[in-house]
Amino acid sequence: MSYAAYPILLTPGPLTTSDRTKQAMMKDWGSWDSDFNQITARLREQILRIVHGEDSHVCVPLQGSGTFSVEAAIGTIVARHGHVLVPSNGAYCQRIAKICKYLGRKCTIIEYTEDKQVLAADVEQALVKDPSISHVALVHCETGAGVLNPLDEIAQVVAHHGKGLIVDAMSSFGAIDIDARKTPFDAVIAASGKCIEGVPGMGFVIIKRSTLEKCEGNSHSLALDLYDQWVYMEKTTQWRFTPPTHVVAALDAALQQYWEEGGLDARGGRYRRNCHALIEGMAQIGLKSYVDPAIQAPIIVTFLAPNHPNYDFKTFYAEVKKHGYILYPGKLTTIDTFRVGCMGHFGDAGIPGAVNAIKETLKAMGIPAHA
Ligand SMILES: *Cc1c(COP(=O)(O)O)cnc(C)c1O
Repeated sequence: MSYAAYPILLTPGPLTTSDRTKQAMMKDWGSWDSDFNQITARLREQILRIVHGEDSHVCVPLQGSGTFSVEAAIGTIVARHGHVLVPSNGAYCQRIAKICKYLGRKCTIIEYTEDKQVLAADVEQALVKDPSISHVALVHCETGAGVLNPLDEIAQVVAHHGKGLIVDAMSSFGAIDIDARKTPFDAVIAASGKCIEGVPGMGFVIIKRSTLEKCEGNSHSLALDLYDQWVYMEKTTQWRFTPPTHVVAALDAALQQYWEEGGLDARGGRYRRNCHALIEGMAQIGLKSYVDPAIQAPIIVTFLAPNHPNYDFKTFYAEVKKHGYILYPGKLTTIDTFRVGCMGHFGDAGIPGAVNAIKETLKAMGIPAHA
């Protein structure tokens, strides 16, 4: 089966990768081998460059899915008696709160509904009210509903109060600008299989060097101790424990393509075009997006499910898949939705093709447009 015959993933990761990225996984690497360790060094340097953090931050890669890196960052950076403020407008914010609970880090939540942005003024108010808060943990693009949170505004407030900021930028890193020279942060967390369009299997945390230097002994976990991972990597150029070699090689290839495409502006531009074409196309077949376009991130779009007795997500999903597109279930608790991703290596025909597949599927299910 040729790669081209696989369905296109319109999901928030894993996502569709290029043939070149897949081909990069056809070689086995030894973890001690200097050629492999040069790849690791190159990755770390390039990832820092994406956020202009070369002078102030370091990049610590970690095995595992993105959540492993989020958990590692909180465990490494927040002292055991620390206190984390989590402004929450969705599932990934809730996951951070859950991590804090598991790790025994005190946590205070500011609750929003999933269609709202986090507001810097609310963060400020919470910091004023409770000076024991040591860190704010913010999700940049809340992939649950697809809302973009105002990172820079919040970062300025947090810095003004002398608190730490940990950013889950998993689904925005590489496509939406984050500039370490202008936006103060302690840590930005992302992963291989999102906007950089590598394959899943590793994350990375960009940490302010002066912060990380003080983090020895914070972590409750050996495998998730980013301080230890950093010190070892600096000393030996190697990963502490078995690296996901094929994932690293694929990410290296994906980064080469990222720069060839034109870096952040080009990647973000492509996703914005996809997002726009998607929302427009779906509106034409009567499907409404859930998030106000003013706060919609160009990463993933939540659509209201058709209000019709013939609709059920499983059948809808299976039919759209037959047309060559993989959709994603909704993650909202109160209303029936589904999600369509804007990220991944697929051509300009991808989104119109998906809209057409959805249109044909609804017709076959006997669901009229504007149901
Ligand atoms: C994908 C994602 C994660 C990580 O999820 P994993 O399933 O562990 O890869 C974390 N936060 C956000 C905002 C994400 O989009």
